[in-house]
Amino acid sequence: MKRVAVIGAGFIGMASAAWLMRDGHRVTLFDPTGVAQGASYGNAGTFAPYACIPVNNPSVFGSLPRFLLSSDSPLRLRWGYLPMLAPWLARFLRNSLPQRYEHSVRALAALLGQAQAGYEPLLAAPALAQFVRPRECLYLYSSAASFQAAEPSLALRRALGVPFDVLDTAGIRQLEPNLAPIFERGVLFSGSWHFSNPSGFLQALFEHLAPQGLTLERQTVRAISPNSAGATLHLEGEGVREFDHVVVAAGARSATFAKQCGNAVPLDTERGYHIRYSGAADLISRPVGWAERGFYMTPMQDGIRVAGTVELGGFSPEHNRALLNLLTVASRCALPNLQQPDSSWLGFRPTLPDGLPVLGHARASKHVVYAFGHQHLGLTLAGISGRIVADLIAGRPSALELTPYRPTRF
Ligand SMILES: Cc1cc2nc3c(=O)[nH]c(=O)nc-3n(C[C@H](O)[C@H](O)[C@H](O)COP(=O)(O)OP(=O)(O)OC[C@H]3O[C@@H](n4cnc5c(N)ncnc54)[C@H](O)[C@@H]3O)c2cc1C
Repeated sequence: MKRVAVIGAGFIGMASAAWLMRDGHRVTLFDPTGVAQGASYGNAGTFAPYACIPVNNPSVFGSLPRFLLSSDSPLRLRWGYLPMLAPWLARFLRNSLPQRYEHSVRALAALLGQAQAGYEPLLAAPALAQFVRPRECLYLYSSAASFQAAEPSLALRRALGVPFDVLDTAGIRQLEPNLAPIFERGVLFSGSWHFSNPSGFLQALFEHLAPQGLTLERQTVRAISPNSAGATLHLEGEGVREFDHVVVAAGARSATFAKQCGNAVPLDTERGYHIRYSGAADLISRPVGWAERGFYMTPMQDGIRVAGTVELGGFSPEHNRALLNLLTVASRCALPNLQQPDSSWLGFRPTLPDGLPVLGHARASKHVVYAFGHQHLGLTLAGISGRIVADLIAGRPSALELTPYRPTRF
């Protein structure tokens, strides 16, 4: 039994804690905000094993300029942030070239192929499984041209074994009769599902594990200093704590810790938003994505959550009213019975320019393990990432070849 600290109590930190406890370790979470208050709080809630096509793909060369300049685009740039973002953006574009893109797709598909198995132990208890809604995600295209443009990526998914069915307007209507008749094509992804309340699930996971010894310290970690036997955590204020192992799962804020432990990682954030329509959850029976508008509408316990968009612009807490407005207008266009949203949220996706997470040991010490950078897929990849973290700490070979996710790849 080892003493393990996990920095960050989002999907990745919580799943890591769960897998580490299965190995009999004594685990302490550190997070000043408590459980599931970062990006893990307000995501679209979809378990999306089909999502192996990252945002960095060859189509960005044609679409990026139009997207960045158009007023109804779901992708925005805060121009004042451009000087800070430029090195990341240059790498992002380099990774959108066909060869590198295909490498990322294959590496993502390998992780996604194990995603369900990674979740099984996290969902074993009925109190946790009750959050799972086993309805496949439906992805929609409002123009035949957009669907045609997506066909190469659908073909690549099929070649990688991702199961799906293509629906016409009648098929879409049969599944979701409340949608406006504006969608030309739909893709229904088998094997996908969603959480009825993602942060509620993580809170329940914590409550399930706490009686077995999981503890949470609501503290900000300032620094990690590895030593020959483990690592010391320096907390904000004067506190220090000694551990045998430390897991860095601080989402979009993880790069500082990596730097302290010998790795320069070009981690930045893709800001994303959600709005909520309380009490409207019965209008759809499953997560419905609208490709051209870049969002999902997901029926949740407290209503329909409309989540998505990408804003490149760092960590400013200021909400982009134009993007929130876009979510409102577009969701009401798709589901005309929606009334007024009653809350909104901004979250920070942790994203590396090749679209792959970092999963591996720190350069400075085998006692420090990294698990961050899960971009649009942190909920989906939590289970398998937690399993890999536990393997790395145990010194066991993983079910996957981990080279594509190594922290030294940059
Ligand atoms: C709009 C939107 C929709 C999304 N939809 C989906 C989806 O449908 N499916 C999917 O799979 N993914 C989705 N995602 C992505 C997913 O939410 C993220 O990839 C995931 O939440 C990342 O989890 P994490 O644990 O790495 O980070 P976080 O949830 O951000 O957790 C990191 C934690 O670290 C803590 N922390 C940071 N610094 C410190 C410090 N110094 N000391 C202590 N603690 C610290 C923070 O307080 C935070 O709680 C979506 C994201 C957004 C924004």
